[in-house]
Amino acid sequence: MTATVIDGQAFAATVREKVAAHVARLKEENGITPGLAVVLVGEDPASQVYVRSKHKQTVEAGMASFEFKRDADLTEAELLALIAKLNADPKVHGILVQLPLPPHLDSDLVINSIDPAKDVDGFHISNVGLLGTGQKAMVPCTPLGCLMLLRAQHGSLSGMNAVVIGRSNIVGKPMANLLLGESCTVTIAHSRTRDLPGVVRQADIVVAAVGRPEMVKGDWIKPGATVIDVGINRVPRGEKTALVGDVDFASAAEVAGAITPVPRGVGPMTIACLLANTVTACCRAHGLPEPEGLTA
Ligand code: NAD
Repeated sequence: MTATVIDGQAFAATVREKVAAHVARLKEENGITPGLAVVLVGEDPASQVYVRSKHKQTVEAGMASFEFKRDADLTEAELLALIAKLNADPKVHGILVQLPLPPHLDSDLVINSIDPAKDVDGFHISNVGLLGTGQKAMVPCTPLGCLMLLRAQHGSLSGMNAVVIGRSNIVGKPMANLLLGESCTVTIAHSRTRDLPGVVRQADIVVAAVGRPEMVKGDWIKPGATVIDVGINRVPRGEKTALVGDVDFASAAEVAGAITPVPRGVGPMTIACLLANTVTACCRAHGLPEPEGLTA
C-alpha cells in the first residue's frame, strides 16, 4: 500500500476536544451552555443508534442534550408544534430532526419549519441557498467533515480538480459547493455520467458518496490523488457482515496519495461536526466569536 490512510476517528476526537474546550469557555466566560435538541419519530433501529450516539457525544462535550422521542403515528401538526416550541426556546441552539421520517410526514415541510439559525444539519432551504451563494451558512455535517479532512491533508485546495460522485442534497451537492468555495475545479458525477472511470481519473480529489459497495476501483484513481470515501455499505463476509465504503480500498490504496478507510474514516466526523455546528449556532445566536477551525 502506498497511500497515507487518513484517520478520521482520531481527527474526529480532535474536533470533539476543540468543541468541548469552546463549550467550557462559553460556560465560564459567558454563563452559556450550548444546547442541542434531537427529535426522533418512530422506531427505525438505525436512527435509534444514531440518536443515542448523538446524545452521548453531546453530553460528553459539556453541552445540554434534549431528546424528543415520539411515536410513529405523530401527526404533522404535532411535529410542527414541537419544532415551533424548540425554535422559541433560548436554551436550544441546535435542532435536528432525525431522518428518515415516517412517510405520512412531509420531510421538506418539517425541515423548513426549523429556524435556519438553529438548523445544525444545514438542510433548511435558506442554508442551502446561503451555501450555494457563498454566504455564511449552517453546513451539512458530513460534507463539512470531509472538508476538514481535506484541509488538514492539503492546506489550500485552490486550483485542484475535484470529482464528487453522487448528487444527493445531503452529501454530494453541498460537498461540491464547499469545494467550489475552496476554489477547486468541481465535477459532480452521478448515475447517468458517461465514462465515470475516465472522469474520476482526472481528479486530484475524489469524494465518493454513492451507496454502492466498493464501486470505485484503483485503476480509476489518478496516482497520488486524495480519496474521501463517504459510503457506508453493509455486505456479507463469510458467515458475518462487514462495513465497506464506495471505494475498493485495497486497490485504491495502491494508487492514491491519501485515502479514508471505512469504518474509521468519514463516519466519525459526521457527529463531531454536528457538535461543532451546535457550538457555532450558539455563538452566532449570542453575537460571540465563532470557534476557530470548526466552520467551513
Ligand atoms: P443517495 O442515495 O441520496 O445518493 C446517491 C447518489 O449516487 C445519487 O446522486 C446517484 O445519482 C449516485 N449514483 C448512484 N448510482 C451511481 C452509479 N452507478 N454511478 C455514479 N453515481 C451513482 O445517497 P447519500 O445520502 O448521498 O449517501 C451516499 C452514501 O454515503 C451511502 O452509502 C450513505 O450510507 C453514506 N453516507 C454516509 C454518511 C457518513 O456519516 N459517513 C452520511 C451520509 C451518507
